Amino acid sequence: MSRDMLNTSVGRALKSSTTSKPNSGSSQEQPAIILFTDLDGTLLDSTSYSFEPARPALNLLKALAIPLIICSSKTRLEIERYRGELSNSHPFVAESGGAIFIPKGYFPFEVLSQGVRTGARGDYEVVLLGAEYPRLRLAMEQLRREGFSVRGFGDMTAPEVAKMTGLTLEEAAMAKERDFDEPFILEKAADFEILRERIVRLGFRLTKGAFYHISGESDKGEAVSILSGLYQRALGSIITIGLGDSPNDFSMLECVDYPVLVQKSDGRHDPAVSLPNLMRAEGIGPFGWNEAVITLLRQITLK
Ligand SMILES: [Mg+2]
Repeated sequence: MSRDMLNTSVGRALKSSTTSKPNSGSSQEQPAIILFTDLDGTLLDSTSYSFEPARPALNLLKALAIPLIICSSKTRLEIERYRGELSNSHPFVAESGGAIFIPKGYFPFEVLSQGVRTGARGDYEVVLLGAEYPRLRLAMEQLRREGFSVRGFGDMTAPEVAKMTGLTLEEAAMAKERDFDEPFILEKAADFEILRERIVRLGFRLTKGAFYHISGESDKGEAVSILSGLYQRALGSIITIGLGDSPNDFSMLECVDYPVLVQKSDGRHDPAVSLPNLMRAEGIGPFGWNEAVITLLRQITLK
C-alpha cells in the first residue's frame, strides 16, 4: 500500500483495523471490515430516534476504526445531523440510494476517478443515482389522478410531517428537503401489488420502510455495491456487514457478506425479508444492532 493511500482516512481505517486486532495471530493482513446500516428502526429506535442502546457496539467500531456507512431513506441534511452526533466522517447514502456523498479527499483521487462518475457539491464528491425529485412529484400527481390516494411529504406541511413521524418541527423541515425519493402514505387502503405495477410502468420503483417510497431505479443495494467497489480498490480485500429492518433494506442486505435483520418495534423480524445467510438479531432496533455487531465482529476478527 502506498504512503499516499495511508494518508487518507480510509487508509488509516485499514491500518488501525488490522493492527489493533488482538488475536490475528499472524503478520498477514486481514481484510478490512466495512459496515453499512439503515437508520430508522435499525440504528435508531423507531419512536425516539435514539441510538444510545447501540453505544457499546458504536464504541467498538470506533476503536477498531471500522467505517460506519449510513445508508438511509433520510435526506442529506438529516443524515448530516446524525453523522455529527456520531462523530462520523465516512461517506453516506441518502434517500434510499438516490445519491452517495463522499467527503472530498476520503478516497485517493485515482480510486475515485476510475471507480465512478462524481460531481463536486460543497464538501463532497457526489454520485447521483436517483431520479430527480420533480419527476417523482409528477408521478405522484399522475397516481392521484388515477384514483390512488397517495399523499407524500411534498403534499404535507412541516407540522404534518412532524406529527406523523414524531420528528421535531426543525427535523421535519429537513425531512422535506428531498432530491431523489418521496415518502408517502396511502390514505385509503390500496392493493400494494397493483400500485407497485403502476409505479414500475411509470418508470419508478416502490419500496416500503416506515413509509412507502417512490424513487428512481436506484436502490440502497446499488449504492452499497458502488461504495464496496471503491473500498476494494482502495484497500484490497474487504468484508462487508449490512444491517436493516425493512424490505427497503433488502437490496443492501443482498450484496453484503454478513446481512443482519433487527427486530421491529413489535419484536418480530419483517417476514418479507429473507436471505439464506441472513442473521436475525435478537433485539429491537438499536438493541439488536448492538448485539449483532458485537457478535459479528468477534466472529470475524477471531476467524
Ligand atoms: Mg428502517
